[in-house]
Amino acid sequence: MTQRRRALVIGGSIGGLFAANALRGIGWDVTVFERAGEALAGRGAGIGTHGELIAAMRRLGLPVDETIGVRVPTRICLDRSGRVIHRISAPHLQSSWARVYRLLKDALPAANYRFGMALERFEQDFAGVTAVFADGRHERGDLLVGADGIRSTVREGLLPEAQPRYAGYVAWRGLVDERAFPPEIHKELFECYGMCLPEGEMMVTYPVPGRDNDTRPGRRCYNYMWYRPTDYDRALPRLCTDANGRCHGISIPPPLIRLEVGAEVKAAARELLAPQIAAIVERTDRIFFQAIFDLESPRTALGRVALLGDAAFVARPHVGAGVTKAALDAECLARELAVADGEVEVALERYDCERRLFGSRLVARGRWLGAYIEAQLKPPAERTESERQPPPEFLMREIGTISLDLRELTAT
Ligand SMILES: Cc1cc2nc3c(=O)[nH]c(=O)nc-3n(C[C@H](O)[C@H](O)[C@H](O)COP(=O)(O)OP(=O)(O)OC[C@H]3O[C@@H](n4cnc5c(N)ncnc54)[C@H](O)[C@@H]3O)c2cc1C
Repeated sequence: MTQRRRALVIGGSIGGLFAANALRGIGWDVTVFERAGEALAGRGAGIGTHGELIAAMRRLGLPVDETIGVRVPTRICLDRSGRVIHRISAPHLQSSWARVYRLLKDALPAANYRFGMALERFEQDFAGVTAVFADGRHERGDLLVGADGIRSTVREGLLPEAQPRYAGYVAWRGLVDERAFPPEIHKELFECYGMCLPEGEMMVTYPVPGRDNDTRPGRRCYNYMWYRPTDYDRALPRLCTDANGRCHGISIPPPLIRLEVGAEVKAAARELLAPQIAAIVERTDRIFFQAIFDLESPRTALGRVALLGDAAFVARPHVGAGVTKAALDAECLARELAVADGEVEVALERYDCERRLFGSRLVARGRWLGAYIEAQLKPPAERTESERQPPPEFLMREIGTISLDLRELTAT
């Protein structure tokens, strides 16, 4: 009898969980190693979904039903005065990071998931791969999957030249309870995907499942992301400096963001955004931000090591496809391993060809959609034609790609 193949999955967020469930589905023994000491369910906020994501979750046998998200039939764009200047029908399902994470995590036996295990390095040879953890433990497997995010330790060991590149702007994010909405704004905005486009910026808003992933009316939340140019040398370090004057680099844990920074964002919202949207920003308890990066890896696999999800490619959130990409990466990995019948290196060569193409096209699309925001840090005379702000109708149609786009991205 042949021995069951073993996969070591580094990173237990959405990418790692998709990989673990997909590999178990083809009969592999899988262990996920997550650096964090406890469940990650409190992380993240709203995410846009695609038909491909829902289909991939169903193929894994996950119990996906209507409660996976909130259906949003319409997109509206508001001007600074609060007037609706465009309205289009663009049905979309908005879910939340926590909802998708919970479904994937519950599908995996607890024994296959280990918290508090930070990968330090790995070594591969002709027969397998050994992962070495910060506490000195060693684990041996036939395959190592790097699903450890944009600052991936696995990628650092495999392709140290592949580094994230700052896009020149940050996304301010917040969640507001449906119950906190003033009734007149609720009527106009809550069921819509809203946009407001101050010069060189982009604000998008949409409903998502509420606390405890509740999708019932009255218990949902409203999510927003406001993309604002922020220079790397001065403005970003200032935002990342806590109340004790300590600069945390290029990101800062949300609870450490200084109160006056949140107040500045609310003041800017009053000045630049439609009053309905500014009123939502005003009601946010905790505004936080994420710097936006592009990441392109020259390869997604080498030998017995594969990169997946954000460890391999990060496209700007305008594409809204990070979770979907992680799901499709995991499916492709499992499919190629099943076809190659145990020839791990052969399977990973094929995985690399397919996912590299898809990932780099996704990154290019994100750059294209965000080019005008990035260009704000340049003098106007130096901006190219493709860096001019597109008309609202264009952005309303293109932000958060639809299924057809993903199929186009896959075509060779
Ligand atoms: C502002 C913003 C908005 C977004 N909106 C959307 C959206 O609308 N739709 C969408 O699909 N996607 C969206 N995304 C992207 C999406 O969140 C990610 O693409 C997706 O979660 C896949 O992430 P991942 O699992 O690959 O990596 P991560 O979620 O970053 O997980 C990596 C995991 O690895 C662990 N780890 C790291 N290092 C180690 C180590 N050395 N050892 C062990 N474990 C380790 C970490 O603790 C973490 O749990 C958005 C992203 C941002 C920043």
